[in-house]
Amino acid sequence: MQVYRTVSEFRAFRSAVQGTLGFVPTMGYLHEGHLSLVKAASLENDLVVASIFVNPMQFNSTADLAAYPRDEKQDLSLFREMGVASVFVPSVEEMYPPDFQTYIQVEKMTQKLEGEYRPGHFRGVATVVAKLLNIVQPMRAYFGQKDAQQVAVIKQMVQDLNLPVEIVVCPTVREADGLAMSSRNVRLSPEERKAAVVLHKALVAAKAAFYGGEREPERLREMMLQVLHQEPLARVEYVSINDAVTLEVVITPTASPLLVSMAVFIGEIRLIDNIILA
Ligand code: AMP
Repeated sequence: MQVYRTVSEFRAFRSAVQGTLGFVPTMGYLHEGHLSLVKAASLENDLVVASIFVNPMQFNSTADLAAYPRDEKQDLSLFREMGVASVFVPSVEEMYPPDFQTYIQVEKMTQKLEGEYRPGHFRGVATVVAKLLNIVQPMRAYFGQKDAQQVAVIKQMVQDLNLPVEIVVCPTVREADGLAMSSRNVRLSPEERKAAVVLHKALVAAKAAFYGGEREPERLREMMLQVLHQEPLARVEYVSINDAVTLEVVITPTASPLLVSMAVFIGEIRLIDNIILA
């Protein structure tokens, strides 16, 4: 497995590749969620390329960026075991040289949900993903449903800018108790880790009610809030029911698939989770 740290080195590798290339962009500190994307990419492509880049542009707080867990050595060995052909690991300077001045702004759908609480986050995400897609030039790129709004924003960008890539979305991988895997989970204390299961419990409650016939969005939201408020360590930022494609807030029963999503602080750690109900 080759590791490239500059765009020019990666481009030399890329120009020699034959066959289909699947790409898995990550911020590292890998878990089973990331590895499920690699597995899916391996099944559908001749060769898999991954990237590790903790993108400063998508962080809202320097403290969060500084605290983001990293373990490049372990990440590279996991990618190697999974049969990844090459990993692109650029520095911040390589991606954003001093004269960098071009940004991608997906407009409407980035104003709500995560965008409302993390201003500028999706501008950072869209810009870095566009850059990585241009550098790697994959046939398919793999993203997790765990970050549902990210998926919607990237699909919109690919459509709007006619980027020649297929976006493949993979299901959220969870711990045995239901907590969605996330690199941030290691920052939870043992007590917080137990409390964090409440996000999944709230989703399960909404799912049960929905398939039991409840279609009123506000009723589903209230049920979830009730579950979340039972956990003293949880502080809810939002619980929202949106159209799964447009991300418009849904206020009356509809036949369109619903994105049920939330952001909840467990202590200092902000966790997100979601489910699609259709
Ligand atoms: P990150 O390293 O957090 O930027 O995530 C890299 C990719 O892995 C993104 O497409 C995420 O949506 C995806 N991902 C993160 N956690 C999970 C999970 N628990 N299940 C599936 N995919 C995930």
